[in-house]
Amino acid sequence: MSLILLLLVLLNTYPIRMSRNLAFSSKQTSMHNQAAVVATSLSELGRLTEDEVFKVMSLLDNMNMTRVIVTDTDARIMFDTSETEDNIGKYAVFSEIRNALNGKDVFYSVLSEGAFMSRAAIPIRYRGTTIGAVYLYEYDSNQASLISAIQGTMLRFSYLVCALSILLALVFSRIITKRINVILSAIKVVREGSYNYNLDLKGKDELSQLGHEFNRMAERLKTTDEMRRRFVSDASHELKTPLAAIKLLSDSIVQNENMDPRTIREFVSDIGRESDRLAKITEKLLSISRLEGEKREKPYKVDVKTVVLRALQLIRPLAKDGGIELKNELENDCAVLATEDDLHQIVFNLVENAVKYTPHGGEVRVTLAKSETEVCLVVADTGIGIPSEDLPYIFDRFYRVDKARSREAGGSGLGLSIVQHAVLIHGGTVKAESVETGGTKFTVCFPSYREEGKAS
Ligand code: ADP
Repeated sequence: MSLILLLLVLLNTYPIRMSRNLAFSSKQTSMHNQAAVVATSLSELGRLTEDEVFKVMSLLDNMNMTRVIVTDTDARIMFDTSETEDNIGKYAVFSEIRNALNGKDVFYSVLSEGAFMSRAAIPIRYRGTTIGAVYLYEYDSNQASLISAIQGTMLRFSYLVCALSILLALVFSRIITKRINVILSAIKVVREGSYNYNLDLKGKDELSQLGHEFNRMAERLKTTDEMRRRFVSDASHELKTPLAAIKLLSDSIVQNENMDPRTIREFVSDIGRESDRLAKITEKLLSISRLEGEKREKPYKVDVKTVVLRALQLIRPLAKDGGIELKNELENDCAVLATEDDLHQIVFNLVENAVKYTPHGGEVRVTLAKSETEVCLVVADTGIGIPSEDLPYIFDRFYRVDKARSREAGGSGLGLSIVQHAVLIHGGTVKAESVETGGTKFTVCFPSYREEGKAS
């Protein structure tokens, strides 16, 4: 609005002033030229007499002047076109004539009351001496009315533009604030926890795009919220089972006074097993929270073989207990951009699962290989395998194919979800497939580490 107002003020002043100045200067030139023609014609006379001046003046063209006065050196009027009074012989009192008699060329013009009033006076010279003066006066209302007509049109145009822009500004701001208010109230509703709110903003402008994005964000929040609720309820459920077992076992010991020491030992060792399970679950929950946390360690170059060897070292006793052969085929110089902790979680969980779900006499093979762009780790076993209908869900939290078996094996249903999370964080991929001959094969691939510090 301010800009438009400024523009209108400029439009109403600058061009008018310019055209007025233009009119002034064109008048100055034309009146000066006309006065010069008169002065030159009269200067031929040498000495000015009323008759001679009258004769010369009658010969000159009608100059379109309102008044023409010729005076001698004493400012006595020798010729005057004024029709209202007879001034011949009287003394002219105009300052312009006095200045002209002093040898100056004078021009003066004003625009007032709808007309240009211009005066010009120049001396008449004969052989270097001033013998009189010519005074011209012009009252021009034509040009002035043209300028004031332009001025009037511009003013009307300005009022129109002003009114239109105020109207448009009001209408647009009303429309925009109304739409913004709709978004604001939607934000308030969603902030209070009603994620089902659906914002309906018509149109294809930025605000409706904002509304669309807002809906998607609310949907995302809803999913996250549901996931969080499910996670808390699943986690509590998982923790509840071993806690209930511990309570049951300890209650039986306390209530049964005559319990024989062998049964007590058995019960206490069961309590110990359940506690171990609790510890494992909480440890895995902590791993998940660490993976999702914001203060994560920055990735750096990690040699995968070193991490795999260390994990295998830890699992070897478990494999030995289960009568499982743990084989490995690891290529050197397989570096990726990750953290040792995350890689350890990946390798350990996969190999531990392979050992857990492979019966006595089976085999677990860990292979590490690199290509131009990728480093891939394969953990394959000859175990019980995973039914194809369960394959899409095994990376979900707390998902277990065979609950009883998993629990028996000390599983929590969190291992693969940790693996997937850690893999995705470092830009990798993980897939599980069933092997035809029986067993399961997990393949994890990472972009190989590039020296510039960039993973390809
Ligand atoms: P858990 O702690 O129960 O092992 P995971 O998230 O590690 O949980 O695995 C989810 C489920 O996927 C397991 O309960 C098991 O049924 C199945 N699973 C994982 N790895 C294997 C494997 N190598 N062979 C057969 N089944 C497996």
